[in-house]
Amino acid sequence: MPIFTPGRRWQPPFMPFKREKFGKRALASLEKAVKGPLFGCRMCGNCLLQETAFICSMECPKGVRNGPCGGSTPEHCYVDETRPCMWYEIYDRAFKMGREEMLLEVLPPLDWEKVGTETWGDVTRQVKKVGTGKVISGLISGDPVKRTTTWDLVFRPVRQPEWWAGDSDYHPAKYDEPVSELERRLKAGQFVVTSEVAPPVTIATKKLISNIELVKPYVAAINFTDCPSATPRMSSWSCSATAIKQNAEPVMQIAARDRTRVGLQAEVMGAYNLGVRNILCLSGDSMSMSPSPRGRMDIVDLDSIQMLWILRRIRDEGKYLDGREIKTPPKYFLGAAASPFASDPRFQAIREHKKVNAGAQFFQTNLVFDADGMEIWLNELAKRNILDKVYILVGITPLKNLRMATYMNDEVPGVFIPDPLLKRMEKAGDGAAEEGLTIALELVEKIRKIQGINGLHIMAVGWEEIVPRLVTEAGLLPEGFVQPAA
Ligand code: SF4
Repeated sequence: MPIFTPGRRWQPPFMPFKREKFGKRALASLEKAVKGPLFGCRMCGNCLLQETAFICSMECPKGVRNGPCGGSTPEHCYVDETRPCMWYEIYDRAFKMGREEMLLEVLPPLDWEKVGTETWGDVTRQVKKVGTGKVISGLISGDPVKRTTTWDLVFRPVRQPEWWAGDSDYHPAKYDEPVSELERRLKAGQFVVTSEVAPPVTIATKKLISNIELVKPYVAAINFTDCPSATPRMSSWSCSATAIKQNAEPVMQIAARDRTRVGLQAEVMGAYNLGVRNILCLSGDSMSMSPSPRGRMDIVDLDSIQMLWILRRIRDEGKYLDGREIKTPPKYFLGAAASPFASDPRFQAIREHKKVNAGAQFFQTNLVFDADGMEIWLNELAKRNILDKVYILVGITPLKNLRMATYMNDEVPGVFIPDPLLKRMEKAGDGAAEEGLTIALELVEKIRKIQGINGLHIMAVGWEEIVPRLVTEAGLLPEGFVQPAA
């Protein structure tokens, strides 16, 4: 068990891609011998320990480098329940040490050329560059500001290479006119509704098209999920293209789980070409939820915050991750998931803050069944002064039966259904679907009154037929609504 990183050592250290010179290999062995027992170091070669309260984030089974995923809980990691969520531990310790604001810096993905190699060489070079005497006097200074500045002079260039240059600042979108109908309605102050339509598991699109036609008049945009539960089905971009053909506006979801940095950038350029203007960036369910045989479960190339950072720079700076210029960059409205009931609301608020800084313009939250509990999270966002920088659409689902309610409560990461609601579903028996709708309408009623909420995101989980009724009975028909022909 590493001394400074709680939880058992889970994954082996990385090996370098190619054979290094003797000196570098010797230094790497020394670094591994010291940092292994202390931090459970995996030799990622892109060390972030100074930013992560000295707990190695590479022990997270998703390998995310910018904070807890939506499934994190105080008890354990949702991917491996035998050990704690590494990011929960990092946030917890950072708060205890008063270093929580350091967690806002958007940290880069791994540079795989450096993976498996040492970081101490980089640190030594940086110390020499700044001046060894200056570094020593700065670090032993009685002035805390001087100590922090010196620390940053040495470690910032190591953890933030020029190709990334991440920071903790807010980067507002550099355009004025809305790029999508969803953005236009939100900017106009309308209380909007979006809805998911499940992508099909076959190439037959009849049901997909009829579901798009069914919900289209009632919502501002339609989300197409990207292989939830890490289970393959029709891709989100293909369903988005189908929606565009049906004159509906899509929100294309992209799960980091299945993307490389090359694939991501190519996909958003291509999606723009197809007419996609709303993109939702997610980490995605862990590959451990996928049916067997499973793909790699211990690392992702990018996390959702890194995706936002890359896409915002493509859009606003016209630059690929590698720095190449894009003469005509795409314009899109960028969204992210938010999880009011995962881990601790203070921790989640930092994570949401970081997403807003990285480029998120709207949130679609995980399912909410407890409006009062959600307000605690919202208050944390208000304290971080981000409510005027992001639109929030609250995730709602009408429960269809008790089995669905129990499954969601027990199995879906970040979803919490209060006991009284579960009891109501149980008591309703054959009338459970009607009770589920009543519960959803009561929640909508409460949520609409909460300041800082800009709309709803309906996740009907295959029950798209309920969307028109839910929107109508909640009194949320959009402006200019025309009743579709029967
Ligand atoms: S809950 Fe999520 S963030 Fe936390 S260790 Fe597990 S995969 Fe990583």
